[in-house]
Amino acid sequence: MIVPIFKNDAEKGPVMEAVSRVRGQLGDVRVKVDEREETPGFKFNDWEMRGVPLRLEIGPKDVAKGTVALARRDRPGKEGKSFVPQDRIQSLAAETLASIHASLYDRALAFRKANTHDPRSYDEFRQAVEGGWAFSWWCGDGACETQIKEETKATTRNIPLEQPGGSGRCIHCGKPATEKAIFAKAY
Ligand SMILES: [Zn+2]
Repeated sequence: MIVPIFKNDAEKGPVMEAVSRVRGQLGDVRVKVDEREETPGFKFNDWEMRGVPLRLEIGPKDVAKGTVALARRDRPGKEGKSFVPQDRIQSLAAETLASIHASLYDRALAFRKANTHDPRSYDEFRQAVEGGWAFSWWCGDGACETQIKEETKATTRNIPLEQPGGSGRCIHCGKPATEKAIFAKAY
């Protein structure tokens, strides 16, 4: 999202010129210009709330210096803001978006790993699915899953292709199981 910043018509002309030049360079990404009659602060919050990953701000100072302010949503505040040359916006925006994608992915993966448990008993299973995932042997029987759901509100989320191999006993009914499944509550 590009947010133009200006206080009056004299500033608006050159700012919008730079905005349209920058926008023209960003042909490969989905980009919009926020031309609403709201304050920049309102727009920043609004787009942050809506999940726009990358915000570009262009004001009179940027016009004078040939810069764009880049604000990445995954790093709020000053830490995530940088000033970059307008004529390098295409590659820098692409790099920043790739970096945002990677950091969100890494964060999600770390979160999943930290919250996935391998319970040793059905009691531990119950605790595991209270706030996370349980990776457990499961007999594959639908009726067994229904009971698990009634007792814990958790259901199978996924049976990973990558399996530990071997076999075990179903975490719920104790019958022989050849696959482990991820269980969690759905929200
Ligand atoms: Zn079972």
